Amino acid sequence: MEQNFTQCSKCKASITAEDVFCSNCGYPENADQEEKDKYEYRIKLKMNVLKDAKKKLKNVKILLWVLAGLHLVVGLAFLSQEITFYDGIGPIIAAVIFIACVFWVNKQPLVGIMAAFIFWVLLQLSVVLVDPALLLSGIILKIVFIGIFVKGISSAKDYKEFSQKLRTLNATT
Ligand SMILES: [Zn+2]
Repeated sequence: MEQNFTQCSKCKASITAEDVFCSNCGYPENADQEEKDKYEYRIKLKMNVLKDAKKKLKNVKILLWVLAGLHLVVGLAFLSQEITFYDGIGPIIAAVIFIACVFWVNKQPLVGIMAAFIFWVLLQLSVVLVDPALLLSGIILKIVFIGIFVKGISSAKDYKEFSQKLRTLNATT
């Protein structure tokens, strides 16, 4: 039996005329307009999720730059005085780690954010262990930071999932 082949208008894959959906990207090539509209709508939703995830990932990166900057300022201030010189080394190292996390987030958003979050929590713990009263200092800011980290982690998951789903389509659009 001879099979008729057509080309998927989305991904240019070759599909048989009997296939309603493209076997490569799932586009309802041989379905009615309503089905095609529904497909476009679902793509748009995925793109919106992706856009939102990118925004939250950007927030995490901004937060990491801010944390790096703060630690750098504190570290340099300590380093500039002989009596606190050795206290300045810790914050400088922390600043470098936060900057490294920004690059890690760029490469592997989920792992990078989790590493940065764990490092930040450990830093908070090290402060609180020395002086428990400091747990409440800047508590609102800390809650905001935790919110940014947690949203970043869930966005990194979305980002991974939805960018994979959209990859086959992005190649053609
Ligand atoms: Zn296709």
